[in-house]
Amino acid sequence: MAEPQPRYVTPAPNRGLRCSLCPHGCRITPGRAGLCRVRRNQDGEARLPYYGYITALAEDPLEKKPLYHFRPGEGVLSLGFTGCNLRCPFCQNWRISQSAGAPGRYMPVEAVIAAAKAGGFRQIAYTYSEPLVHGEFLLDCMAAAHESGIANVLVSNGCAGPDAARDILSLTDAANIDLKAFSPETYARVLGGDLNAVLDCIRAARALGILLEVTTLIVPGLNDGEAETAACADFLAGLSPEIPWHLSAYHPDYCHNAPPTDPQALLKAAQSARRRLRYVYTGNIPCSRGFEDTPCAFCGALLVRRRGFRAAVQGIRREAGAKNYVCAACGRPTPIRS
Ligand code: SF4
Ligand code: SF4
Repeated sequence: MAEPQPRYVTPAPNRGLRCSLCPHGCRITPGRAGLCRVRRNQDGEARLPYYGYITALAEDPLEKKPLYHFRPGEGVLSLGFTGCNLRCPFCQNWRISQSAGAPGRYMPVEAVIAAAKAGGFRQIAYTYSEPLVHGEFLLDCMAAAHESGIANVLVSNGCAGPDAARDILSLTDAANIDLKAFSPETYARVLGGDLNAVLDCIRAARALGILLEVTTLIVPGLNDGEAETAACADFLAGLSPEIPWHLSAYHPDYCHNAPPTDPQALLKAAQSARRRLRYVYTGNIPCSRGFEDTPCAFCGALLVRRRGFRAAVQGIRREAGAKNYVCAACGRPTPIRS
């Protein structure tokens, strides 16, 4: 498959390259790849050998991304890639994120769009491992999706440089961005990322008006302190108290063996966050005590009931041509977008 012209890469001394796609700003020497393992220098030339390399192609409910306020109950064609610019020790997708050797196949953009159309999907998700490091493929696929009337869903760690974030988010309709901690040290030392870049990416998504939801995996001993979760909630509420925040329970995986998140502690954190944010959801626990459902912010009527990844849309309706649904009981606006 023909490789496109790499973006976000400039020449550096001694046939080196400098990549600015993410805050690592890798200086890539000939014969080597950047930290994400997928952007390479071949004899001084930037190469993208994993352009269009798809490691997973599956139908998921949008609720699994998780996205609760975008087309609830619909399915999404989900694409997985290879490589990642972070190294979270608890990564659930480490087989595809922490190596470039995962099994997969090359799919041209046209084949992805054809698969979406054949399956009757109204949206494509770029997900599983980190899609951002494949910025060139994302831009091509997202533009083609829009030409076919298909929406783009980005599920990302948000650790991007400003130019790549702006370019990719401009073609994104709905995004779930991880806010993995509120400590620059945790991002730098444990996750191998950059908190400020993630905060800027979340701000950019909000400023562009895309449907934005945020997820935090609550990992005991890493980011579960009250002050830290309050700082995350304060940051999001400062942008808008309407941003949905998903608090997910961690389970041991990859190289992290701390005990799983206590469901009661997760519910307590969610309860506390609801003082700052209107829509706080819990995930990965068996009993959510209503923290999976979406009520009307005005009259309290149930808009969407959820159990696991299943959503029952029951209290919303949409005026012809409107982007957002209204509450079927009181007629006032809901945050749920079509
Ligand atoms: S995307 Fe980030 S990790 Fe990958 S080569 Fe570029 S700067 Fe390095
Ligand atoms: S950012 Fe996501 S894909 Fe990358 S290592 Fe962390 S959890 Fe895994």
